[in-house]
Amino acid sequence: MAWSVTTGRPGPVVTVPNGRGEVALSVSYDEVVRFVRAFADVVAERKDELTELDSAIGDADHGINMNRGMNAAVAVLDEQPPGDVGALCKKIGMTLVSKVGGAGGPLYGTLFLQLGVASAGKSELEPDDWGAMLTAAVDGVIARGKAELNDKTMIDALVPGRDAYLAALAEGASFPEALRRSAAAAEGGMKATIPLVARKGRASYLGERSAGHQDPGATSSYLLLQTVADTWAGDTERT
Ligand code: ADP
Ligand code: MG
Repeated sequence: MAWSVTTGRPGPVVTVPNGRGEVALSVSYDEVVRFVRAFADVVAERKDELTELDSAIGDADHGINMNRGMNAAVAVLDEQPPGDVGALCKKIGMTLVSKVGGAGGPLYGTLFLQLGVASAGKSELEPDDWGAMLTAAVDGVIARGKAELNDKTMIDALVPGRDAYLAALAEGASFPEALRRSAAAAEGGMKATIPLVARKGRASYLGERSAGHQDPGATSSYLLLQTVADTWAGDTERT
């Protein structure tokens, strides 16, 4: 689908022509809601795959946990007074913490809570806002779970995803292009968890036997950043 120029009018993504197609400049509250629904759909579709990954190196519940959490998140969307992205993300974070057990609930809860802290009072997200939100979210997950890069956790997808996003903006890439690079880097980070030996979470109990399997949390975190890109970048021309 081609984005239309919607500046000044309500629309999915505010865009302006740049001579090589159109470039999204910011994301509205409704686009954030659309992302949450899309992520819930993706998690539902990939639930069995996530659970299967977790059955190899964990307790076979990651897809179930994420699906339960995102269904609960979608259920609170309509209760939210529209307009405040920060309040929305915080509510989703609290919902995930209260509805999802295990490691995933508190970690994804922290991720969304911090997305909310960094976007408090905002009804529109500019590219730098998403950078600040991602930074706060990733730092929050690290502070909460104490995982480092290459410990074979969700951090291994989130950190490259955030870094690629910030690097792309610093280079002057368009918002959609930065979102796509972020998702691509997260995918690379996810795949790179396969040979790693887990040093955090349940998979670490397996020691060397955890090597050779892709981390379930890194997979869901990649799916999150891919869904952000798919929802907000659309198929605008690459720049
Ligand atoms: P549980 O391990 O309690 O069953 P889940 O199966 O929902 O919870 O989530 C497992 C995922 O959580 C792992 O694949 C890993 O990516 C992530 N994880 C576990 N511990 C940590 C941690 N300390 N820091 C970051 N991520 C972690
Ligand atoms: Mg598990």
